[in-house]
Amino acid sequence: MTSSLMDNYGNPKLEFDHGKGTYLFTGDGEKFLDFAMGIAVNCLGHCHPALIRALRDQADKLWHTSNLYRIAQSERLASRLAELTFADRTFFCNSGTEAVECGFKIMRRFQYENGQPQRKRIISVTESFHGRTLAPIAAAANPVHMEGFLIGDSGFDQAPFGDIEAMAKAIDFNTAGIVIEPVQGEGGIRLTPIDYLQGLRDLCDEHGMLLMFDEVQCGMGRTGSLFAYQQLGVKPDILASAKALGGGFPIGACLATAQPAMAMKAGSHGSTFGGNPLACAVANAVLDELTKPGFLDEVRRKGEYVFEKLQSLVEQYPDILLSVSGTGLMLGLNCQVSNTELSDRLIENNLLTVKAGKNSIRLLPPLTVSYEELDEGLEKIAGTLGSW
Ligand code: PLP
Repeated sequence: MTSSLMDNYGNPKLEFDHGKGTYLFTGDGEKFLDFAMGIAVNCLGHCHPALIRALRDQADKLWHTSNLYRIAQSERLASRLAELTFADRTFFCNSGTEAVECGFKIMRRFQYENGQPQRKRIISVTESFHGRTLAPIAAAANPVHMEGFLIGDSGFDQAPFGDIEAMAKAIDFNTAGIVIEPVQGEGGIRLTPIDYLQGLRDLCDEHGMLLMFDEVQCGMGRTGSLFAYQQLGVKPDILASAKALGGGFPIGACLATAQPAMAMKAGSHGSTFGGNPLACAVANAVLDELTKPGFLDEVRRKGEYVFEKLQSLVEQYPDILLSVSGTGLMLGLNCQVSNTELSDRLIENNLLTVKAGKNSIRLLPPLTVSYEELDEGLEKIAGTLGSW
């Protein structure tokens, strides 16, 4: 089929007409179990009634005014995030890459305001992903994402994932901070070891650098706590959030502790749409659901349930699957066969997943998924493996 869209997404064949809970439906009424959830976005499934209500109520009142004026919904969202996390202040934007970009700007500006303007370099780790605008592609240093886009040295360095000594060596008097995903998503679902994260925290404290967690994918309940770092016992200075923050409505946020946040003086940064009433009304409704007593405990329990079942599939089909990884409802199947082929065959069985890393598929059901739906997904996976 010809398209007037650019080719950057390839040529996807599937198209959906509507969604309900954990399912998506084509125009012909074919039903798919959705364990992709818009790549970890629709945390409450499709068309959650509380989100529809929040969006409709706000749509009837006010959509957009710009940040020339105070926005009650964004004030409320920021103060709730401050109550629920390490952060004191938040900047709202519209996507993950913008949230990351804001974090990078905070790191540099913080050092500048502290009389160390040369400290501009930011260190990331191998196989990370931080978005597709220029600074995040330079940070993650994936050659495929960078090809043809960058000029010279963009001010980022990389250290091998998990190697604290290599990180210590990568730091010099020009380093402003370190960015890392507590759980890697695009790189294949990979947990960052706690002692490594603690090592990064210690290095940042020792050298007067800022530690930023990119929780665009692993945050907002996905791992069974509001943010993944909250289970790991290591606090960042800055955190990027997006994806599930709006449950499907575009919104990003960069959270920070008071000191780095203070570096962002009036006029230093901005976004026309950032923090608009519609996005913030929906994000507030997402937070209402995620903070209901027991909600996140249940995410953890469901995660443990599927993990165990996936583990036995790995044991049963060692020629097809190498291992299962992840935590909560952010799970990865690392493949012996081609992940593209496995994901295509799962689609033939009406199960949607997302490819990741070198050869993995991600299972990202909504946090509201039922045990019956998890079993249905597991049956589809077992059926696909059985008929390989
Ligand atoms: N950071 C991480 C960890 C991500 O997984 C993503 C998107 O997949 C991004 C940043 C970029 O987010 P967005 O696509 O909303 O710009």
